[in-house]
Amino acid sequence: MSSAHAIASRIFRQQILTMSHYKVADASNLIKLDAMENPYTLPEALVQKWLASLQNCPLNRYPDPKAKKLAAILKKTNAIPEGSEILLGNGSDEIIQLLLMALPNNACVLAPEPSFVMYRQISLSLGLDYHSIPLNEDFSLNMEKMLNAIKTHQPAVIFLAYPNNPTGNLFNPDDIEKIIQTSTGLVIIDEAYAPFAEASLMDSLPNYDNLLVMRTLSKLGLAGLRLGFIAGAPDIIQQLDKIRLPYNINVLTQETACFALDHYSVFEQQTHEICQQRQFVLAQLNAFNTLCVYPSAANFIIFKTPENTAHQIFLDLKTHGILIKNLSPQQGLLTDCLRVTIGTPDENQLFLKALGKILLEDF
Ligand SMILES: *Cc1c(COP(=O)(O)O)cnc(C)c1O
Repeated sequence: MSSAHAIASRIFRQQILTMSHYKVADASNLIKLDAMENPYTLPEALVQKWLASLQNCPLNRYPDPKAKKLAAILKKTNAIPEGSEILLGNGSDEIIQLLLMALPNNACVLAPEPSFVMYRQISLSLGLDYHSIPLNEDFSLNMEKMLNAIKTHQPAVIFLAYPNNPTGNLFNPDDIEKIIQTSTGLVIIDEAYAPFAEASLMDSLPNYDNLLVMRTLSKLGLAGLRLGFIAGAPDIIQQLDKIRLPYNINVLTQETACFALDHYSVFEQQTHEICQQRQFVLAQLNAFNTLCVYPSAANFIIFKTPENTAHQIFLDLKTHGILIKNLSPQQGLLTDCLRVTIGTPDENQLFLKALGKILLEDF
């Protein structure tokens, strides 16, 4: 053991020493359908306008710590209800971290399983008491187990991704309201996929003091920017704002996000196209009768492959130059499951063609 390793082992928390990294696959030279990114960039004419907008960005100065202009545009484009406040983060990942950092030691965090992996990852890194409740076979919430866990553990925070990642479905809104009403802690509705969903809890914010709604620009088409926000009661947002690092949203992000949101219709067109392609890919996948395909309200589709074939299909797709996500190693309900992000029509065709060939020849 190196002496640096010995120092690290002595200095850092046990939870961190035993943690594994958040793994990101190498997508070099592959068609990238693994990370729920929007496949489209800004149209060329807009790129020129965007670059011009950056010309007077004062890089020598610290950014506006409150990002006032950007916050105002976000409130408008996302129809944040009157009386709710928002907090901006360097991606919604940072907001999850900030929220969990504010909890007492050993506080309980609850989320369904499977769901977004960062809820668990960040909870464990902070030494919090993370509990996950398996979804039903059809990926709906197991309400009996959820309500029991709420009563038993009194979680300080409950995360519900709506639509859920990696399953793509929307939970029953009545179930969600029941959870908000039963919980004495905060309920975070993570609406990362709102641009594709036609469903939201945003309008319910004024009804519940313990409800927070989180969104991000990542899946809309700006994953490289790292900008997310959370909306809720000012008394809660103000406490979180104390531990937010003062300049967490850099000038380039502030300027670029304002520019992008001023051209929101471009993103609406792109997400509309992605939703149409989602229905096309869904229908095509359903035509492979060896697959079990799940409906999706997001920009990805999860499907179950014949027993013990997920890993090989994933590798074969890579050989065909296509990177998707193999969920099977996460086990439980995700055993034998693969997840594909909706790409451009060409990318989707290439994926479907390769998958068809693989299923026909090898399985
Ligand atoms: C992608 C994703 C996020 C992370 O968004 P960033 O703003 O890019 O950090 C949060 N929640 C869910 C459910 C996601 O799928």
